[in-house]
Amino acid sequence: MVEPAFVCHGGAGHGARDQPGVDLACEAAWDVLTSGGTALQAVLDAVMIMEDDPRLNAGTGGRVRDDGSVQLDAAVATSDGRLGMVMVIEETPNPVLVAAELLDEPYHALAGEGARTWADSKGIERTPVVGSPRPVATDTVGAIARDRSGALAVASSTGGCTGRPAGRVGDTPMWGSGLWCDANIVVAATGIGESIIEELIAYRVAAEHQRNGGDLGAALDWGIDQFSPEIQVGLISLDAAGGGRGLANTGMPWAAQP
Ligand code: ASP
Repeated sequence: MVEPAFVCHGGAGHGARDQPGVDLACEAAWDVLTSGGTALQAVLDAVMIMEDDPRLNAGTGGRVRDDGSVQLDAAVATSDGRLGMVMVIEETPNPVLVAAELLDEPYHALAGEGARTWADSKGIERTPVVGSPRPVATDTVGAIARDRSGALAVASSTGGCTGRPAGRVGDTPMWGSGLWCDANIVVAATGIGESIIEELIAYRVAAEHQRNGGDLGAALDWGIDQFSPEIQVGLISLDAAGGGRGLANTGMPWAAQP
């Protein structure tokens, strides 16, 4: 049996004020993992708790776009190669559920009103999302887990960055940029999505971890070093064997178990 492990974050750019919401999500996910639940269930439970927390920029409390809309992005991936990504969806307080529904479909990504209509067909409630005009540039929520079978999973969810037009998509639902998960490592990113996409950072941290012989701390240091200090960025990661960790070049509430 493998030792379970879990890490979640409340977004690069956020401070200690948001730590309680992140701690709550971590505790709930840890209960799932220590009761024999799957890594996928743990990350979904954690992200839903954070989506429902109006302090955090995901689901309820998601960033309001320049035109006043609340458009949300989310993604889920598992180490058995399944992937689901949803972009700029409206009227969906828990977009991570839509991403999770996509895991077993023959397509990976849905966007906009098409995604919302598809979510209707899956019975995912259509309801207005109360956004947050809070003037913070970045943040997102993310969770990664390893369960007793050794399976890894990641889920992330965001309202995007302040000052972005309707229709803009950041890194969060972009495979290889905002998230990566294979049998050896799982990575989630947060921060300025445009820069994270340019660096393809989640995949490249995984590649660096493999190149350096499995030193997770060094791979995260390397990842953060790819960004100039004025670009807010944070990473969480967990590999197949050890404990997980988070690292950011700015404030980032995060929590880990064990
Ligand atoms: N990466 C997200 C985005 O650009 C925001 C964040 O994580 O702070 O949409």
